[in-house]
Amino acid sequence: MAIDLIAFDADDTLWHNETIFVTAQQKFKELLAKYHTEEWIDRKLYETEARNLQHFGYGVKGFTLSMIETAIELSEGRISGTEIRTVVELGKEMLKAPVALLDGVQQCIDELLKSYRLMVITKGDLFDQEAKFAKSGLGERFWRIEVVSDKNKITYERILKRYDLDPRQFLMVGDSLKSDILPVVALGAHAIHIPYQTTWIHERVAPGELEQKQYFRLEHIGLLPDFLAQFNRA
Ligand SMILES: [Mg+2]
Repeated sequence: MAIDLIAFDADDTLWHNETIFVTAQQKFKELLAKYHTEEWIDRKLYETEARNLQHFGYGVKGFTLSMIETAIELSEGRISGTEIRTVVELGKEMLKAPVALLDGVQQCIDELLKSYRLMVITKGDLFDQEAKFAKSGLGERFWRIEVVSDKNKITYERILKRYDLDPRQFLMVGDSLKSDILPVVALGAHAIHIPYQTTWIHERVAPGELEQKQYFRLEHIGLLPDFLAQFNRA
């Protein structure tokens, strides 16, 4: 059965995102340098983020609150109001950052549009993700844009059902094995992994989880149209 619908992840698949987080986190560590080492701050911040996902979900706003909480904890309450304001400003800078498309995205999307329906399935903060689509100039090219709170098997199952999609004709393309590939493969749909230069710890998976899993891997999104032409011929 040929692929009919291609769904893309957005962050670090269509545009750069993790680099914005890494840059903000670097500034955060410089702010707290007088209290702790960088390694310790990284570790504590990640622990706080992971713990807070259930309360705040994914995205910049939750990350900013986690930075504030971590700063208070690591300074044992000594952090000043001025320093907290700096952290809040870091968060606002992240939200205001321009959307930088990955190389080859625009051409790839335009090429695929000739033969496929395209959609986006992205997790994160609704307001921020919508703003990024507006800034990206890509929004109009997609048949549907789904902003969801998490991307697991149930999420994909619900989307396939809602739009009456056959998993065998559905392809997901993304940079996260955990969110874009494994849950999709588990439903009998197709998935293509295109790794980004850095992966957030939370999205990493143990090599054992990938054993016997059927998915493809491309080094660059620009390779996608040719790959699909071959795939559908086969
Ligand atoms: Mg991603």
